[in-house]
Amino acid sequence: MARLRSQEAPFDLLVVGGGATGTGVALDAATRGLSVALVERSDFSAGTSSRSTKLIHGGVRYLEKAVKHFDRSQFNLVRDALHERAILLRIAPHLSHPLPLVTPLYNWLEVPYYLTGLKLYDWLAGRSNLRTSRFVDAKEALQRFPMLRQQGLRGGVLYYDGQFDDARMNLAIALTAAREGAVVANYVAVDDLLLENGRVRGAKLRDRLAGDSFELTARAVVNATGPFTDGVRRMEDPGARPMVTVSSGIHVVLDRRFSPPATGLLIPQTDDGRVLFLMPWLGHTLVGTTDNEAAIEENPRAHEDEIAYVLRHVGRYFAVPVARSDVRAAWSGLRPLVSDPHSADTAGLSRDHVVNVGPAGLVTIAGGKWTTYRRMAVDAVNEAVKVGGLEPPRPSATERLLLVGGEGFSAQGAGALQERFGLDADVASYLNRAYGGFAPEVAGLATDGLGERLLDGEPYLAAEVVYAARHEYARSAVDMLWRRLRLAMLDEVAAAAALERVGELLAGELGWTPEQRQADLEEARELLGQQQAA
Ligand SMILES: Cc1cc2nc3c(=O)[nH]c(=O)nc-3n(C[C@H](O)[C@H](O)[C@H](O)COP(=O)(O)OP(=O)(O)OC[C@H]3O[C@@H](n4cnc5c(N)ncnc54)[C@H](O)[C@@H]3O)c2cc1C
Repeated sequence: MARLRSQEAPFDLLVVGGGATGTGVALDAATRGLSVALVERSDFSAGTSSRSTKLIHGGVRYLEKAVKHFDRSQFNLVRDALHERAILLRIAPHLSHPLPLVTPLYNWLEVPYYLTGLKLYDWLAGRSNLRTSRFVDAKEALQRFPMLRQQGLRGGVLYYDGQFDDARMNLAIALTAAREGAVVANYVAVDDLLLENGRVRGAKLRDRLAGDSFELTARAVVNATGPFTDGVRRMEDPGARPMVTVSSGIHVVLDRRFSPPATGLLIPQTDDGRVLFLMPWLGHTLVGTTDNEAAIEENPRAHEDEIAYVLRHVGRYFAVPVARSDVRAAWSGLRPLVSDPHSADTAGLSRDHVVNVGPAGLVTIAGGKWTTYRRMAVDAVNEAVKVGGLEPPRPSATERLLLVGGEGFSAQGAGALQERFGLDADVASYLNRAYGGFAPEVAGLATDGLGERLLDGEPYLAAEVVYAARHEYARSAVDMLWRRLRLAMLDEVAAAAALERVGELLAGELGWTPEQRQADLEEARELLGQQQAA
């Protein structure tokens, strides 16, 4: 905050929005040697970027569309995303991994259709392909996914995509941008843009924690605010025509017993012609998603009819019953889709991204997918360089740069952690994955009196709360439970049980007054209540 406020010369770039798109832009620009400020009005990933299906993918569904409509641009989109998939798996090995997925088939006629489609997916990936897709007979399909309904099962197609922890990945991108010299701040909102001689020259910022406002000047401003894109564009041009619409997608989290530990399921056909994924994720089972028209709001909720829709489809493919009472958590996210006024339904909109330059030079980057955040960032920064007349000393380095935590990470690192710090096996394995090369720092705090588990039987430690307040910009129990530990998005009851202790640890670390602590608790309780009641 001191660096933002005491600005002497203008920044080269101000990035508005701290989802995957914005943090990606900040990192790209920082690696080019530009001076960068990024502000996020809530927490990093508070928006869509923590509410995805957690797939690093080209999108088998988009491929199907490309084939059906002979759409070359959709093919290119899938191919580019598959290239990005390989990059993301490489630069953040601790937060991502390849995941095998089975598409169960109950009709022989479907086999050639899905097998050819997924072979095409492999082929489009080229050298970036993870592993070859293949047909598996009913026996192997059941071995890999024992909960499948056996009756009538002919077999399935096994293919591979990437899976990741979206909120922690976004945090890693923000932390890497900061390490590369960018100034990044959460809880700082852009309330207005500064215009000078008809050009955007910065923004009026509000520090939401301190409660005051100040101005920041920059040679170029990038608007990366996802669903809120048009609101920021109207700060430049009150008459700007909307370019983003949103559609909502919900996810339901079930117990771990509903999925095997290392294989996902692709349900190939829903009533409304979509696909549904069911996958192991962070020790639970994640199911999603839907696609419905929605209003733009900060905390969209999963509604009962949407939850019922998801459970109904899972029930059709499962040998075991799945009831509403099996749902541990349910949440919703908004897809920022670049508008096409000719499209009737949002599922038909392109997942491609658009870089737009407004009449006063505001650079807007919108659309795309999580998987393509890096490519989107390259395009947005290229445009900002032109608009701002910037001269970056170096080219972008994001294709090879490991994200924070990637260095020093080893998939086998849990054993060493366990031995060195005397941790339980589940804790060591969890810390290794969540923090990568920084796991020893968290483990060090744990052996320093903060080794208590936040919940019995769960690997989360008190040390993580202190670590997140010191090194990961966590400023509230909501930041902690939703986006650092992910607990509130996995198990709402467990999150409620951990809340008091998380608040206590944060209060000690951040020097809160009793009133501040109470307000923080109430905020988290309210959000949990909304999530459960919706
Ligand atoms: C249900 C669902 C499932 C998905 N699944 C996948 C998937 O499996 N794989 C994949 O690749 N993609 C997936 N996506 C797409 C992906 O999640 C999004 O494309 C991506 O997260 C968008 O990121 P963003 O940064 O553009 O938006 P956001 O993450 O919403 O970030 C925008 C940020 O801007 C901030 N902001 C807004 N206004 C201001 C202001 N005035 N000042 C400061 N900050 C501001 C907001 O607080 C917010 O944090 C999915 C999307 C949805 C909805």
